[in-house]
Amino acid sequence: MEEKNEKLVIDTTKCIGCGFCCYNAAPNNFSFGDSTAVVTNEEVTEEAKVAIEGCPVGAISIEKK
Ligand code: SF4
Repeated sequence: MEEKNEKLVIDTTKCIGCGFCCYNAAPNNFSFGDSTAVVTNEEVTEEAKVAIEGCPVGAISIEKK
């Protein structure tokens, strides 16, 4: 499976707004929106994978485009 056929998705109903993904792990992929994180670059980068692993509520996932 090629990563370019995949995209990052945040389940904003799960996100608790901890800021880890956008401020610590992958600021090039996520930013802080209206009380939740939002995807700004859907490319599945190594940093994004760190954010997925580190998200305390499992709100970030990879979906097929
Ligand atoms: S790491 Fe998870 S809970 Fe924290 S802001 Fe990002 S998506 Fe939300």
